[in-house]
Amino acid sequence: MQIKSVNIIGRPGVYDIEVKAGLINNLVKVEGLAKQVLVPTFGDIHVHLDKTYLIDRCSERVNNLGDAIRICSQAMVDSTFEDIKIRAARALRESFFHGVCAMRSHVNWHESNPPKAWIALQELADQWKGNVELQLASFTPLDLFEEIGEQIAERVAKDQQVLGAFVLRNDNIDTKIKYVFDLAEKYDLPLDFHVDESLDPRACGLDSIITEAEKRQIKGRVLCSHCCSLSQRPNKIMVDLLERAAEVDLGLVALPSTNLYLQDRELDRTPIMRGLAPIKEAYSLGVKTMLASDNCQDPFYPYGNYDPMDIFRTGVMVAHLDPNEWIGSITSLPRKWMGLYSGELQTGQIADFILFEGKNLLNVLGRAGSSRKVYRNGKAIETNGYD
Ligand SMILES: [Zn+2]
Repeated sequence: MQIKSVNIIGRPGVYDIEVKAGLINNLVKVEGLAKQVLVPTFGDIHVHLDKTYLIDRCSERVNNLGDAIRICSQAMVDSTFEDIKIRAARALRESFFHGVCAMRSHVNWHESNPPKAWIALQELADQWKGNVELQLASFTPLDLFEEIGEQIAERVAKDQQVLGAFVLRNDNIDTKIKYVFDLAEKYDLPLDFHVDESLDPRACGLDSIITEAEKRQIKGRVLCSHCCSLSQRPNKIMVDLLERAAEVDLGLVALPSTNLYLQDRELDRTPIMRGLAPIKEAYSLGVKTMLASDNCQDPFYPYGNYDPMDIFRTGVMVAHLDPNEWIGSITSLPRKWMGLYSGELQTGQIADFILFEGKNLLNVLGRAGSSRKVYRNGKAIETNGYD
């Protein structure tokens, strides 16, 4: 198979691509204008499949993060094992047809035994293997770790998944974060924190996380999502933290849609702050900085469609990012962080990619509805099968 006249992301010029036996067999530079843009398949490193599509069951108005947590928790109580699987499978289908090849979902975990969503999503992970590699991260309020953290860590290790916590202005935060790291070391687990999802500058859980990672010299194993309050702290402190974060190879995930929806949200007042972590500074100081979907169609974010290109468009606009420089934030970086191949578009690599209509990435971002074809192992996948 040959695909003619494409602009390959990260490579100047126009190319014809030859695909053979599921691999990129040859890239030939050609004259003329590009008609299509080739992007690697996506990694969506932060979603919540146990909560997704619950929005239609939640009529109460959400005014802040606390409301979203409460209203969503109520809706989750009534969700059966089968219902979770149906909703999560729908999300996986949408993701797959948008070109996602890997995903990490957080799963609410508030008791010592694994929640039904953990089991349901593990079944789906098995079913989707080879199409969407689904990783799971336990998601537990930091204050519950003393009571149930050991049981959670033991089970997460048995299932070879990721240990996660929700950290926001907890009392005795240093001691509690230290215990999470103790468990991670004991069970050899990667960590994934929701941390400082607030614009209150007193939210500084990130400081404790970096300090623990430094003490133990744990590198490349700790992912921190949100870190909104970092944008509200004095510049010198922010830069110092990001330099230290880069030193321990900490990963940072910004969630532009949820942050825009929940941060600086006040009744009858236009939001002023964007809620995003200082991702440009993080990136330029060497922190692995990624973007992800987070919540889709639940009380935390009533919109969303599991299209990382939509999230990227939002991130590019709200944070004034250079699209060509940042495309790795939804492709190679999250895939590598999840332990998968980077998906570089080079000769000899697996022919997994997305072909967008347009001359270049700016064209693609300029047309939200522009058509795409997803190729996996050199074959175009049918895109008419999702809700
Ligand atoms: Zn989240």
